Amino acid sequence: MLIQHTRLIDFVTEIFAASGVSASSAQAVAHHLVHANLKGHDSHGVGMIPAYYNNLTKGHLNPHADIKILKDKGAVLLIDGQNGFGQVVGKQATNLAIERVKETGIVCMGLRNAHHLGRIGSYGEQCGNAGYGSVSFVNVVGHAPQVVAFGGREPRMTTNPFCCVVPRKDKPPVVLDMATSAVALGKIRVANMKGEQAPDGALVDHEGIPTTDPKVIFQEPRGALGPFGKHKGYGLALICELLGGALAGEWTAQPDNPRAGTIVNNMLMFVFDPDIFDGAQQFSDEVESMLAYIHSSTPARGIDRVRVPGEPEIEAMDARSKTGIDIDQNTWAAICKVANRLKIETENMG
Ligand code: NAD
Repeated sequence: MLIQHTRLIDFVTEIFAASGVSASSAQAVAHHLVHANLKGHDSHGVGMIPAYYNNLTKGHLNPHADIKILKDKGAVLLIDGQNGFGQVVGKQATNLAIERVKETGIVCMGLRNAHHLGRIGSYGEQCGNAGYGSVSFVNVVGHAPQVVAFGGREPRMTTNPFCCVVPRKDKPPVVLDMATSAVALGKIRVANMKGEQAPDGALVDHEGIPTTDPKVIFQEPRGALGPFGKHKGYGLALICELLGGALAGEWTAQPDNPRAGTIVNNMLMFVFDPDIFDGAQQFSDEVESMLAYIHSSTPARGIDRVRVPGEPEIEAMDARSKTGIDIDQNTWAAICKVANRLKIETENMG
């Protein structure tokens, strides 16, 4: 069903407010989720509502938590998200890092124990839109792993996202924001909901045999996601685990740590001022020349044009802001189930 994003934000805000979340946090979470849909990432959009609601009711997600500063020493910030909404504590922590980078030129910020941060690119964009660059390594814990190590059969990690943002003058930043699994887990959830096959090379079954059946992730005997780019994607996923997890979060996916069935993100984020070497103008000129060079590529047959990271999201947002957001039937039914439990009207939403 097609629904306009402004209407959807109001509806999602109502759901979270009725779940005991403050008006401002409900609005922030709704805005983040709907913007993930607008930017083409349905995997991290409103389809997450049932999981968030479930975690709220089980006490895994603290609806009232704000960030707690554990260490504040010059360019170094360590922040505990206290199991609050990732969309709230992630934004608060990034705001702190942005304020600090104005003084220090570079910031190393650790954020631990955030409930699902959603689309990591949104925190990178917060930096990019303020004129700063960022590099983020994130791990995902709190539940059983779902992604195999390269060459292995059983899952050892989750979809560990990596994000790097390069700011531009008066233009949207370059945003590389990606899961280190072959695809994000949410994309398999969406394929499963739609009754579609997963992309080739994205999944293995319980014997490690490649499959395109998304059910292997949700039913016994369980299969797993594979890393993107074979050993290289696996290597980056492991670095996210070690830096985002072991360093910033102090917990990784290894089995001595809790797996209570929730979604926790730990993130190590570096934020930098492009004028750190006193060469902001030179940097900006060189970035623009290089991007123009990339854009001048002759597209391969069947491709309309060559893009840089971040552009597909801008295009999706332009299109979906006009047409509305298309939510598949199963995802919508699962959201309505939550809304109805909270006595929220779901008729006439389309
Ligand atoms: P994706 O594969 O759709 O895109 C990855 C990157 O490639 C993006 O930066 C995009 O702009 C770029 N890109 C895509 N097509 C391109 C093209 N034709 N030319 C140039 N660049 C192109 O994204 P994904 O890996 O499926 O991840 C989706 C989202 O899931 C991300 O926002 C990520 O942060 C999020 N995620 C979150 C978690 C979490 O635990 N919070 C875990 C995994 C993923």
